[in-house]
Parts: sequence; structure tokens; C-alpha cells
Amino acid sequence: MNHKDRIGLYIHIPFCVRKCDYCDFLSFPAHADVQLSYMDALCKQIDATDDDRSVASVYIGGGTPSVVAPEQIERILCKLNKRFCIEKDAEITIEVNPGTVTGAHFDCYKRAGINRLSIGLQSAWDDELKLLGRIHDYQTFLQTFHAAREHGFDNINIDLMTALPDQTAEKLQHSLSAITALFPEHISAYSLILEEDTPFYERYAKERAGLPDEETERKLYYLTRDFLQENGFKHYEISNFARPGYESRHNSACWRRQDYLGFGLGASSLNHGMRYHNCRDMETYLADPCKMEEMLVLSEKDCMEEFMFLGLRMLDGISVSDFSKTFSEPFDEVFGDAAKRLIDSGLLEREKDHLKLTDQGIDHGNYVFSCFLFP
Ligand code: SF4
Repeated sequence: MNHKDRIGLYIHIPFCVRKCDYCDFLSFPAHADVQLSYMDALCKQIDATDDDRSVASVYIGGGTPSVVAPEQIERILCKLNKRFCIEKDAEITIEVNPGTVTGAHFDCYKRAGINRLSIGLQSAWDDELKLLGRIHDYQTFLQTFHAAREHGFDNINIDLMTALPDQTAEKLQHSLSAITALFPEHISAYSLILEEDTPFYERYAKERAGLPDEETERKLYYLTRDFLQENGFKHYEISNFARPGYESRHNSACWRRQDYLGFGLGASSLNHGMRYHNCRDMETYLADPCKMEEMLVLSEKDCMEEFMFLGLRMLDGISVSDFSKTFSEPFDEVFGDAAKRLIDSGLLEREKDHLKLTDQGIDHGNYVFSCFLFP
């Protein structure tokens, strides 16, 4: 089957127990009644969709999807199964946060066909979790992780955050050791970014007291990468690591620009050369869940740029022949000069058909990506 005939589905659940201090995602606490109305609206939006392509992956993200009643998640998956042709071995992921899940959640998720969990840990240190404003401590995470294993989940991602205020190499090393000792299948490790309009921004933007400088942030990044590689994880995307065969299929497809449909508040879609975003206002969404906020018809140049800056996030890089097959002009005519300059300056390397970031290129990723933007 041509990969163009397959899509992914993203379901956004915007609810959280409370807002973490660094978070600018579209998420907030909400009463159970609002959650129920939201799930009704989600079902309506799914019902109104017409697409007969086969579904290779479903990703239920947030927010904290595990704060809604698990039967509601089962209801959504039932709806998706009726509306779409979900492949038998599709990857179906749900994000859960420690402190919001019980064995009953896991039973329900299993029944619903969910086969991958992504657990938001962030740190194995309680003082760091507190600083971030997370609701859980490390012990609660451990209970969640072990309960998930006992309920048969054999594909688990753990989220970790690096470059935290006052984080030393030793503290990070401890978090990494603690996590890898649990043998998860996948680890995402993102550096903390100060986002405007968050308590963290207010606290740190001016003086950055305690926040690592760029050099320290890079050191922590490489410490993470080297440690995880030594412990059997493949570094397959700038911030993602997996045991062989456990790369996130949903996210990899997004980086490869496979179409996906997004359902729920503020969710975005890539569909037949268009990027669109659902509305971000809850009242509007509940009244008309199919209302879009923004639709962008991508030109071929837009698609070429995306092909480069999304594809280069993957450590295997982009396939030059795929580029030439996908677009009306061959790679060398479009980006040959930019690629050569970046290879000469040591930021990219070419390995047969693939063009990929070097270590130096990873450090200057945004610059590399900007070289593939048309004037
Ligand atoms: S749990 Fe996740 S989505 Fe919710 S507030 Fe915290 S960081 Fe944001």
C-alpha cells in the first residue's frame, strides 16, 4: 500500500488536573460536566469526517487524556473504529500522567485497543517535579509504570525534561539511570523552553537565575544522548530515543509528512496539501466542533520546506531520491547549493541517498532548517 493511502489520527484532550508552571499547551482544568460535553463534541466532529484511507496510527494526546473517565476514551476509540478503517496492527497511543490513572483505566484502555502508553514523568527527583509544578512525585510514577506493565502494556514511552533550573549533570544522570533501569521501550527527552505567559517565564526570563546557559544545556543534551545510546536506545530524532523497532510510528509519520487528521480543540491536520487548525475556544468548539480557525493551502515550495525541516529532525535524515520523486524538480536543482554549503561547513553529511545532521548540525538545527526556506 502506498504510504499516501495511509493516515494518522490525533485526538486532543485539553484537560489537566492543574496547569504546570512551564506549560503553554492548550490545556486547563475542567469540571466533569465540561469534559463530558467535550467528549460529545469530539464524537460529533469524528462523525462528520469523511475519509476512506487506512489508519496506521492513533495518538490521544493533551493535556492529560487520563483525567477523563476511561470509558469516554473507549467511546472515542469505538467511534473511530466505526468511522475509519483502522489497521489491525495500528499503533494506538495514549498519554497518561502519574496520579491520574488506576488499574481500571488500564483495563479500559486495553479493551479499547490501546497498545502504547506515553507517561509524563519529566524527572526522577521530587524537588525538580515540585519546581515544575507537576502533580506527582517519583513514587507515584513508579506505581503507574508498574501497574501499566502488570496490565500488559509492552510499549511504553517515558517523557523526561532536561536543562531544568539548577539541574546538574549528576542529577540528570540519576534520572536517566532510574528510568533506564525500568527498561521502557522509548524515551523522549526535551530541553525546557521558557514559553511566554507562563509562571516560569515570569520567574526566569529576566535573570535566568539557575537556568543553564547554552553550553551547559548542550552538555546535558549530549550526556542524555550518550547515556541512552550506551543503554541500548537508538537516537532516531533530535529529542527521541527508542529500543530497536519501537520508534514512535505516529510521530515518525508526521516528520515524514504523512497526512494526519486532528480532532478536538486546537488540533491541527495535514490533509491533501492543506494544513488546518481547529478552533481554540472551548465554547465555540462545543457549539460547532467542525469549525476551523485557520486553513493554509500549501504551495509546492511550502511542502519542499516542510520536507526538509521536518525530515531533518530524524537522525536518518531525508532521502534525496524521495524528494525528487515527491516534487516536480530534482533535489539538486532546488536545494543542491544549500546542502553543499552546509556539508562544507560540517553541519550536514551525505550518506549515499541520505542527507542528515551532524552533531554540530544538531547543535545548530534551527540555522540548518532556515537554510532550506525560500526567500
Ligand atoms: S500535565 Fe502536561 S499538558 Fe498538563 S499542564 Fe502539565 S505539562 Fe501542560
